[in-house]
Amino acid sequence: MAEKIVAVKGMNDIFPAESAAWEWLEAHLRELMTLYSYRNVRTPVVEPTALFVRGLGEVTDIVEKEMYSFEDRLNGEALTLRPENTAGVVRAAVEHSLLYDGGKRLYYMGPMFRHERPQRGRYRQFHQFGAEALGFAGPDVDAELILMACDLWNRLGLTGVKLEINSLGQPAERQQHRQALIAYFEAHADQLDEDARRRLHSNPLRILDTKNPAMQALVNGAPRLMDLLGAESLAHFNGLRAILDAHGIAYTVNTRLVRGMDYYNLSVFEFVTDQLGSQGTVCAGGRYDDLIGQIGGKPAPAVGWALGMERILELLKTAQLLPAQPVPDVFAVVPDAVAWPQVSQVLRELRQHGLKVQMHACGPDGMGSMKSQFKKADGSGARYALVFGQDELAQGMVSIKPLRAGEGSLQSSGQRLASLSDCAQWAGTLRA
Ligand code: ATP
Ligand code: MG
Repeated sequence: MAEKIVAVKGMNDIFPAESAAWEWLEAHLRELMTLYSYRNVRTPVVEPTALFVRGLGEVTDIVEKEMYSFEDRLNGEALTLRPENTAGVVRAAVEHSLLYDGGKRLYYMGPMFRHERPQRGRYRQFHQFGAEALGFAGPDVDAELILMACDLWNRLGLTGVKLEINSLGQPAERQQHRQALIAYFEAHADQLDEDARRRLHSNPLRILDTKNPAMQALVNGAPRLMDLLGAESLAHFNGLRAILDAHGIAYTVNTRLVRGMDYYNLSVFEFVTDQLGSQGTVCAGGRYDDLIGQIGGKPAPAVGWALGMERILELLKTAQLLPAQPVPDVFAVVPDAVAWPQVSQVLRELRQHGLKVQMHACGPDGMGSMKSQFKKADGSGARYALVFGQDELAQGMVSIKPLRAGEGSLQSSGQRLASLSDCAQWAGTLRA
């Protein structure tokens, strides 16, 4: 046999045992978006590398070391598999003047690519669902997005997802904070780890995000951006808090919360859980008022979030909240290939009447024995087997056999015969 080809490390195949849960989650998300009047947008998986370098920031983890970037072999273009989709949505909105008649509320879902160390909840191809509100300035829409995520947890039945919020202020305030941070960390240079020393002058804000326990005390004493915010930034933050408070939404203000992309300002937030180990952030976002201008559009405010689908599904699985696998209503047992044309017609008609039908199909060794077909019928989870025996077929009949205990009136009769000509009636009986 030829050597097997395996998937790229950190990129997963999703089979029916799991994909049913994905589809279920996706349906929940779509319904929620409809309730909040967000509309679907689909952008390419591949974008010009410059979009992310300019949009996310040159010294971010993603751009420095996580991007799948390559040169197009045919024309030398610098391309990148999208590591996130906010930049792509903004690029598309700018390119097509989407905001010409006012703000737009959009959502997307799909695969993202980051060259990270694969582990539970962290993959190289992973899936995000994201919502973006472009062209809106107030904290009202920041709150709308946060409430939307809270509604999702409620609808899914997820508990223990905690909200953290912060304000990153405006660029001038961050610049002031940056100077204060550099001065503070320089004064304590002996306590910095290698990562922090590297970031000291390029991205000192990221030092606050350190996971190194030895640096926690130092980081706790660092100057806080919150204390340097001007009146306008504070008003925006307090506006958001007032709406969340009015809803009784619980949150903590985490003054050390920073995000991995440079484009954020004012409100930032994360939803975190302690049930997923160190990959505890399930949804994250914030305001990015300067990004549209940076991508070449007429400046307009914006805010959004993205959630990690794999992490949400993992949470749902842990909490045993995933729906049962779908099962057919009917499994067709076909003893003899002679019956194929007739069986096929009947089954199609049943489907047209809304029944979920699984047909026993011919394998490499033929149709298989009745015993093995019944075993498959049972294993399918179907409620009924339809047995298309030759003798019955010759009389225009089929036998209906209940496969599950307690299948109503049909159970008591065990196996009964029905006339082939009356699919509509059967479909009704079987559905009941
Ligand atoms: P983390 O701190 O976990 O690396 P991040 O800040 O890089 O997350 P974002 O870029 O904000 O994450 O993406 C939003 C969400 O997408 C995250 O909260 C997480 O749920 C999910 N996510 C990010 N990276 C991955 C990944 N490599 N594999 C699976 N999910 C991911
Ligand atoms: Mg990351």
